[in-house]
Amino acid sequence: MALHFLLSGQSAFFDCESLSEIHMKYFTLEELCRSETAAARNIDNTPDAAACQRLQTLVTQLLDPIRAAWGSPITVNSGYRSPALNSAVGGVPTSQHVKGEAADITVGSTADNKRLFDRIVEMQKTRRIAFDQLIDESHYRWIHISYRAGANRNQVLHL
Ligand SMILES: [Zn+2]
Repeated sequence: MALHFLLSGQSAFFDCESLSEIHMKYFTLEELCRSETAAARNIDNTPDAAACQRLQTLVTQLLDPIRAAWGSPITVNSGYRSPALNSAVGGVPTSQHVKGEAADITVGSTADNKRLFDRIVEMQKTRRIAFDQLIDESHYRWIHISYRAGANRNQVLHL
């Protein structure tokens, strides 16, 4: 995904992907923007500059530290969703996925997802990370996690 955009107030073009390589260790913007639904329906799922920045923050503040503590791969089922993709998958318009603030993650089985979930809760309680919302979706079928810079609520939900 070759993304070029003009950062406001600056005169040079930056490559979103090369920016990510500098800061992100275990995840790429490409995997955070990948979507089978978008591909199948030919929906553009390219984040704008602001969403790009939020995705990077989500990775550096949450996904990378969690992955490092977990010690083995974590799969992102759904990260960024353009407004068109979000409505195609039935997401609510206010979804944090549209802003680039959320990711749905899994490590395979519901039992392992519960272990990961509990680990994330423990990391927050010991102040190693802060999140906006951590949601156990459908009895640990997957985990939704979000980060909102300056406004994290550390809210834990089971849906
Ligand atoms: Zn989600």
